[in-house]
Amino acid sequence: MKVLLDYTFEEIKNIVTQSGEAAYRATQLFDGLYRGAKLDEINLPKSLKNYLQNEGYTAQGVEIVHCVESKIDGTKKYIFKLWDNNVIEGVLMKYKYGNTICVSTQVGCRMNCAFCASGLNGLVRNLSAGEILSQVVAVNRDNKSDNKRAITNIVLMGSGEPLDNYDNTTKFLRLVSDERGLNISRRNVSLSTCGLCEKIKRLADENYGITLTISLHAPNDEIRKKIMPVANKYGVNDIIQAVRYYFDKSGRRIIFEYSMVGGLNDSVECAEELSRLVKGLPCHINLIRLNYVKEKGLNSSDDERIKKFKLRLEKNGVSCTIRRSMGSDIDGACGQLRRKYISGEV
Ligand code: SAH
Repeated sequence: MKVLLDYTFEEIKNIVTQSGEAAYRATQLFDGLYRGAKLDEINLPKSLKNYLQNEGYTAQGVEIVHCVESKIDGTKKYIFKLWDNNVIEGVLMKYKYGNTICVSTQVGCRMNCAFCASGLNGLVRNLSAGEILSQVVAVNRDNKSDNKRAITNIVLMGSGEPLDNYDNTTKFLRLVSDERGLNISRRNVSLSTCGLCEKIKRLADENYGITLTISLHAPNDEIRKKIMPVANKYGVNDIIQAVRYYFDKSGRRIIFEYSMVGGLNDSVECAEELSRLVKGLPCHINLIRLNYVKEKGLNSSDDERIKKFKLRLEKNGVSCTIRRSMGSDIDGACGQLRRKYISGEV
């Protein structure tokens, strides 16, 4: 299947004119696609709809097949089905300043981090740009009120490693910020990576202007290698060098994610080492309670230890927060809802 949201407006225009229809139909089709409509629901001649169907095009990059809403904070978790029946998950989080969607970039993941459920069965396949975009479009449609756009911010932090799917992820960045489409400012988009250094530099050179978030999770290579296989390829110093380059090019402060694993990376010594590592770099550190993943068996640090760690970072002048946990009543851990959905538990 070919996902219509993969194409720019110009490309959609070409598809429409090749079918023999008038070019203005492209605007109707494009607007319908970005409203999250199915082909049947868009006001188009039957002949064009038939053409598109016969050529293997689909308007729906993803279909929402399951949704749970938190009673505590309104967070919604979604399961999306792709045209080939693979499923992925996404999350909508509601904040005072707007709504943030967390989207996936791959089905599964190759990175195999010790705490993460997404990589349990390895990488299944990359998502296309349109399949990433379609998660935003579908959730916008599901949450629209008074014609206001539901989603203001996007984090590429669902399943998958976005920089391992570089071309589709960056095409997505171009599409989602296109004035003709959703017109979401790149400043409101964050990309989270386990630290693929060459790709970080390329992202800086290509000037996407998004916020870069690094899943660091350790202050040195020895500890990082225990939980993140990618640490065998890139050391923490390579990462610091790459993000410094990103900052110099983009002027955007770097965000580090640091999931607190009990007894592994949560000592005061680790906080000291982390402070030294990021010294002089404009950055912010998010300390995260580890979500328990039963197949992985790693436990989070307790709240006391997390607070102590934070205090030590602050004492050293490092900007940091303990990330507020959202939707804790609706299946916490990353990738867990998808696993439950696949195994028929929900
Ligand atoms: N591959 C990218 C983005 C997807 S993971 C990356 O590594 O950044 C999104 C974030 O969730 C990462 O910071 C990841 O380390 C974190 N994460 C994964 N499993 C987790 C768990 N069980 N508890 C807490 N954070 C987790």
